[in-house]
Amino acid sequence: MILFKSSSDLQTFLTNERRKNKKIGYIPTMGALHHGHLSLIRRSQEETQTSVCSIFVNPTQFNELNDLEKYPRVPAKDIELLEKVGCDVLFMPAIEEIYPEGIGHVAKSNIDLQGLDQRLEGAFRPGHFQGVLQVVERLLNIVGPGKLFMGQKDFQQFLIIREMIRLLHLPVEIVACPIVREKNGLAMSSRNLRMDSDEKAIASQIFKGLKKAKKAWQAGAGIELIRDQYLQRLEKVGIRPEYFEIVDYHLLQPIGQPEPGKQVIACVATWVGSVRLIDNLQLQ
Ligand code: AMP
Repeated sequence: MILFKSSSDLQTFLTNERRKNKKIGYIPTMGALHHGHLSLIRRSQEETQTSVCSIFVNPTQFNELNDLEKYPRVPAKDIELLEKVGCDVLFMPAIEEIYPEGIGHVAKSNIDLQGLDQRLEGAFRPGHFQGVLQVVERLLNIVGPGKLFMGQKDFQQFLIIREMIRLLHLPVEIVACPIVREKNGLAMSSRNLRMDSDEKAIASQIFKGLKKAKKAWQAGAGIELIRDQYLQRLEKVGIRPEYFEIVDYHLLQPIGQPEPGKQVIACVATWVGSVRLIDNLQLQ
């Protein structure tokens, strides 16, 4: 694996790869890598010839300083994992490399997402998606991949980036990869590193409840009842829910009653102790 810290060195290398007709696959991450990230890299290895992973904890997408400071950083372990999985390139830029003008002067993206960035995560993490859009656009400009691999774990983020690519006519294909889970169902997340084993066991209720919600939905239960049951289940084990919404799969807008053929997804954000966790499950 080749490690680059400088964008221009990375670009020189990738220009050469493209000349050799190699398609570039790109997996942006914030590090503290786990099997979820590695599944994206494996998918890239199946579908492209050169896989580039980046590790960059993007300060502009954190709406709480505390969350940014506590975000796990384990670069030596990440490098070991990436070597093991056979990733071709790791890009680990310093903050100045991505934000030469400093992070205080973040230009807002002026693409119109028709409210997609305001719902769910957007409502609870003001400014979060502006930061995500900004960093992903910059990273895509630097890397210039043919394919971009993103996890469905961050489903709203995937939809927003897909829309940004469409609106800006960026020459990249986005690929959604399924959520990788622990044995107990807990969605893998870098933030899981901040929980002890008891908290992780408790956190497994987030997905267990989603599966119950899916069953109830398929049996024809109403949204209010499903929501109440879900929230009660979490509260019983001490998980503090932030939101639980059953929304349409494409725009994440609230839906009324089930309609045949309409795709529907349940999205949830919760707090387990001081750790914020999100998850989702397609219901229909
Ligand atoms: P992050 O490092 O959390 O910013 O995530 C980097 C990429 O990995 C994003 O596209 C995430 O959606 C994806 N990802 C994170 N956790 C998982 C998971 N458990 N399963 C699949 N993809 C994931």
